[in-house]
Parts: sequence; structure tokens; C-alpha cells
Amino acid sequence: MLFLIILTTLNFLFPLRLQVDYSPVITASDGSVINAFLSRDDKWRMQLEPDEISPILKKAILLKEDRYFYYHPGINLVAMGRVLVKNISRGKKTAGASTITMQVARLLYPQQRTYGNKITEMFRALQLEWYYSKDEILQLYLNLVPFGGNIEGVKAASVLYLQQSPQHLSLAQAVTLSVIPNKPTSLRIGKQNNRIVAFRNKWLRYYQEQKAFPAKDILDALHEPLAASRVEAPGVAPHFAFRMRQKYQNQAIIKTTLNRHVQEKVESLAYNYLHQLRGKNIYNASVIVINNQTRAVEAYLGSADFSDAEHHGQVDGVRAIRSPGSTLKPFLYAVTIDRGLITPHTVISNVPIDYAGYRPENYFGNYSGNITIEQALATSLNIPAVKILDQLGVSHFVQKLQQAGFSQVKKAGHQLGLSLILGGCDVKLEELTALFAAFPNDGKFAPLRWQQQDTTASEKSLVSPASAYMINQILSQLKRPDLPYNADNSRNLPKIAWKTGTSYGRKDAWSIGYNKKYTVGVWVGNFSGEGVPELNGTDSATPLLFDIFNTIDYNSPAGWFVPPGNFSQRVVCKTSGLPVNSFCSDQVLDGFLPGISAVTKCAHLKKVLVSPDGKYAYCPSCLPDVNYKEKWLPNFASDILAFYESEHIPYQQLPTHNPACSRIFQEYAPVIVSPTAEMEYLLEQAEEQKLMLRCQAHNEVKQVYWYINDKLIKAAPATENLFFTPKTSGKYKISCTDDQGRNTNSYILVKFLD
Ligand SMILES: [Zn+2]
Ligand SMILES: [Zn+2]
Repeated sequence: MLFLIILTTLNFLFPLRLQVDYSPVITASDGSVINAFLSRDDKWRMQLEPDEISPILKKAILLKEDRYFYYHPGINLVAMGRVLVKNISRGKKTAGASTITMQVARLLYPQQRTYGNKITEMFRALQLEWYYSKDEILQLYLNLVPFGGNIEGVKAASVLYLQQSPQHLSLAQAVTLSVIPNKPTSLRIGKQNNRIVAFRNKWLRYYQEQKAFPAKDILDALHEPLAASRVEAPGVAPHFAFRMRQKYQNQAIIKTTLNRHVQEKVESLAYNYLHQLRGKNIYNASVIVINNQTRAVEAYLGSADFSDAEHHGQVDGVRAIRSPGSTLKPFLYAVTIDRGLITPHTVISNVPIDYAGYRPENYFGNYSGNITIEQALATSLNIPAVKILDQLGVSHFVQKLQQAGFSQVKKAGHQLGLSLILGGCDVKLEELTALFAAFPNDGKFAPLRWQQQDTTASEKSLVSPASAYMINQILSQLKRPDLPYNADNSRNLPKIAWKTGTSYGRKDAWSIGYNKKYTVGVWVGNFSGEGVPELNGTDSATPLLFDIFNTIDYNSPAGWFVPPGNFSQRVVCKTSGLPVNSFCSDQVLDGFLPGISAVTKCAHLKKVLVSPDGKYAYCPSCLPDVNYKEKWLPNFASDILAFYESEHIPYQQLPTHNPACSRIFQEYAPVIVSPTAEMEYLLEQAEEQKLMLRCQAHNEVKQVYWYINDKLIKAAPATENLFFTPKTSGKYKISCTDDQGRNTNSYILVKFLD
């Protein structure tokens, strides 16, 4: 009773402090260690997991160190009595009689070996037994036993000496690890292997006598050579490992989703690939591989060569902030399909445009007149993309990007404009790749999974399954300009959907692709920020993307996407992409969303009532009772007409409206496109800067009249661009009148910079 009171008091006065600093260990999905960091006290001390304790090792240790471990209360009085008698009779001190619990106490509170300290050790052992289970104490012992140098614990020893997972130790290896802690300084693996083998075999023979293990296993173990030596800690995926350590600071073991096999393939492919690009002054690449089904990050390459200090190899390109080039276009088209504004065969004009002074150009500077959405996306044209974004609304698209977790878009918000679809915003490779992983997942987005315990619970629908399916089909077409220069069309092309991108100034080359199993994001460029004339998504990034797919998922057995439930098809007119009208002879099958996609019928022709000679057109108010005929004529949009005029492309003109007609259709008044109404123009007076006068007039109009502040400037063809130079600051009234007398006014403010 008194003894108990003393113990309780001591326990209160000297509480057990158990703070073991472990080395942060990063494991792959198969549980193997891919990277590790020194503990805060500079030790390699890796925490074992309960299922990592090999039964062989446990048995060998218990038999050797403390065979009554599971039966005593922390101290073994019988054994101690025996040793005490021995010491007195021989007049010397021998070690021993320390239970595993007492050894743990000594490892936690290292002090000199005296009888006094032995008493404290015994007290601490009782304390340990009070607070912890036997298994927990054994685990602590296995985590703390010294193995020479700064290596402590069985796991660090297995990994750094034997390159082996602790649960897979052979009998010989287990016994080796059980004997070294007796003399960690004189039994150094790699330096005194012969001595270790001799000592190991001494214990093996003891186990033989004890019949502790099957006789044959012991015979094998006795002959097992020991070729081990200390190696560096594993350093796979260094950028990833640093990031994980930073992100999960208090975890001794960070169990990630990284797939060791995929990671190693990607590392070697990227390393070799970049060597071919060095001659072009291109030095860096980053890759992330996502498993579509689990959203697990299976490979993460921050840079192709971590040790290349000269080219900033330590920079982590997976989370670097870059310009996306054209890579956001598929998402824009998917969102716009869901709005019902377009379908893959919708025809859109690909001619020069001007949005309040913003005049995007196509990558190759080519304008093709009319083009389908499908072609516009597959050939990555800029002008159709800007037009579509304008129709959809920048704010709606920005909101969608924010839903998809684009951190910099969240920050920039309403400051973003139409240029964002051509790369005028900031993104990270991991964000782009996570977005693309929504396409093979029926349009559902989910944050990436880094640790095994992460879930995809917060999955949300970004675009509809049918819209995602249409994008998958467009992006897997092979008739496109962004096939790598040397791509062998049949043999080396993996069956994937992909999109390339090149940022302004040729600083970023992107290629993001997916099949059913994986989504892979590739970025190539220079961390120094230097642009390179040869750098582009097609030739600099796509070959690596193809290599990766051909290596990690060759001829994917997962197959290709099948049309989802809400995907339907309808017959449309090839000229407009709209549901066919009576006069549409050229028809084609197109995907659409029933109840959502526009149902306006095609109007690629219009019925015009003309004079018998076809020279004049009539409107209802001037139509004669007899003597006229019906004619179906092309119904060109005004921007297409202006394009044909400026490029001198011949087209079928409409007859002039009946000159005798008195009616004016004010709704056909010209639209002043430039300068932008209500805009404030800041000009440099000394530079004599010019403003452009441009209108869109009705397609029957031949001539327009421009006025500034009610003063006629010039009469000009409706499709011609004029210029004028404001001389004074202040408000300007701009007027445009067409040859039918229809007039439009707009007002601008001009200010001169000092
Ligand atoms: Zn038609
Ligand atoms: Zn008329």
C-alpha cells in the first residue's frame, strides 16, 4: 500500500514525457518509402507502423532481450535477483536483467549506468507500463534502438542499411538487426560485416538450440551473405516530398497516393526528353499524372532535374504561376455548349474583330471566313474563342474557373477580360490538369488527392456529361495542326484527347491530355522566364505527353468514352450548323443537348423579292402588285461581308434596294463599332494619335457618311476603315449615316495625357 502511494506521488512529481521526434517519411501508394527527412535532432528515426513489425524480428528480439516481456510489470525481479547473485559471487558488474521496458526508459532518458540510475530506470519502466500497452512499448523499443551513426530504430535501419521494408525482413536480416544494437559502434554495417555475420550466426545457433524457428530456415539464414552497406535516404519525387512535408507538418508518416512505378517512368522520360531540348535553350519541364477514377496524384515532377542548380532545378513547376496560353479553350466551349449557345457544328465567323480596342489575332495569322466550333477548337483559333467568350460573358466563365479551383483567377476576379481565353490570366499546372480531369469524369470536378486518406467527397458538376463527351470527341481528332512535327501518324499516337498551348512571348509550352484512366499535364519552358522562339506546345510539350501515355498506359485497355445519357444528335445545315430549313441541301449529323441547345432554324439564305431583271430589291412597302419574282440569296453576316470586301473575296451581292422606295428601316441603321461608345480615350497629344472609324452597316448598304460633331468627314464604302486625329480634349459626337438615310450617333470622351 505504502509502495503504491510512493509510486503515485513520484508519478505526479516526475511525469513521463514522451516526445519522440521522428524523421518525416513519405510513402508511396504501395507503402514503400520514397523520400525521408532528418528528424529535428538530425537523426534518421523513422516511425514503424504496427503492421510493419515482422513476426520473425519480434520473436528473435523477445527471445534474445526479454523472453518474459509479456508477463512482467516492467521489471523482472527474478532475473534481477539472478544477476545480483552473479555479480556478488564474481565480484564484477555484468549487464543484463534489463527488460525491454527498462531499455525503452533508458533510451528515453539516457544517463550513466549506476545502481542509482538503475532505480530511476525501474521507476520509469513501471510508469511506461502504467500508461502504455505491451505492444506500444515494444514498438517504441523498435523505433528507438541505436544502429550506429545517426540511425535509430528498425525501420531506418531496414531502409538505409538493407533497402528493405521492415515487414519483409528475412530471418538472417531480422537477426542481424537484433544483434547490432548490442554494440552499435563496433558492429557497423558495411564496415564490419564479417563480425556482424559471426555474431549473427552465434545467435542463430542459439535459436537453433531453442527450436525457435524451422530448422531449414535457420540453415538458410546461417549461409545468407551480408552485402549490406549504408545508402542515402531515398529521394524519389523531391519536389513532391518537400511539398508533402510542408503541408502535413505533424505527421511522422505521410502516406501519399504517388505510384512509384509511374513516378519513376515519368522521371526518366522527362530527364531524357529534356536532354534533347537543351540545344534549343529549353531547360525545364514539369509533369503531373492524375488517376481519373480516384483523382489520386500518381506522379509529380516539379522539374526534370532537381540537382540542376544552374537551371533552377529546385523550382517546383507543378505549382508555379504561369500563363495558360490556349489551354482553357476546351473548357470555354464546354461551358458554352451547356448554355445552349453552340454545338460542335455551329458555324462561327473567323474574321478580324475589335472589342473596344482589343484586337486578338490567330496564332498563324490566318482568317478563314466561316468555320465550325469543332474546327475552331481542334485548330485552336483565337478569334472564334474570343467571340464565344464575349457571347458567353467573361464573368460567367470566370465564375466557372473559380469553381474549378483556379486560385489566381479567384484573386483577379472581375479584372479579367476577354484576353483570358488566350492566356491573359494566371494558372498552375496542377490546376489546369485537375480541370482537364473533369472531362473524362462526365464533367465532374474534384480536388486532387494527395494522401491516401483524402476523399473525392466534394466532387461537383462543372459541365454536363454530354458536353464533356463532345469535347472528348473533338480533342481526340487527329486532323489538327498541333500534332508534333515528327509524329508518326499511325504507330506512335496514343488514343488520347489533348490540348496544347503556347503563352505570349513563347515562355510556356503546354500539353494536357487524357484517356479513360489518366489525365497528364505537361509544361515545358525555362524557370528563368526566358522565352525561346522554338518553344510551343505542339513541338515542345506534346512529344513528352505522348511518350508518357505510351509508357504508363500503352494501348489503354480501359477503352474509349461512350455517349452519356443526355447526349443526342440531330440533323443540321452544314452552312450554319443550325437545324435544317427547307432550302438547306447540305446536311450533317451534330450532337446537341435537347431542351438546351438553340432550336433556331437555319437562315443561310433569305427570300428577296426582286424586279424581273433582278436589278432591284423590293420591300413590302414598295413591292409592285405584279411584275416581281422571288429569289433565294445568301444571307451573310455583316462582319463576313466586311471581310470579303477587305480581302477582295468575290461573293454573291444583293441587288440594290428599289431607288423609288421611300421607307427607311431604322432597325437596320449602321452600328458604330469603333470608336467604342461612351469610352474615355487617353491620348498623347504630341503623338497625334488616331482613332479608327468603323461601322457595321446593313448588307444592302454601299456607302456611309461619317460626321464628327455634326461636320461631315468623309463619304466612304460601308466596309472601309477611316481614321481621324482628335485635336482637342473633350466630348465628341460621332455619327454614321448610310445611303438609305439611317443614322446612328455615339459619344466619346478624349483626354490628353500631359
Ligand atoms: Zn442552311
Ligand atoms: Zn422598299
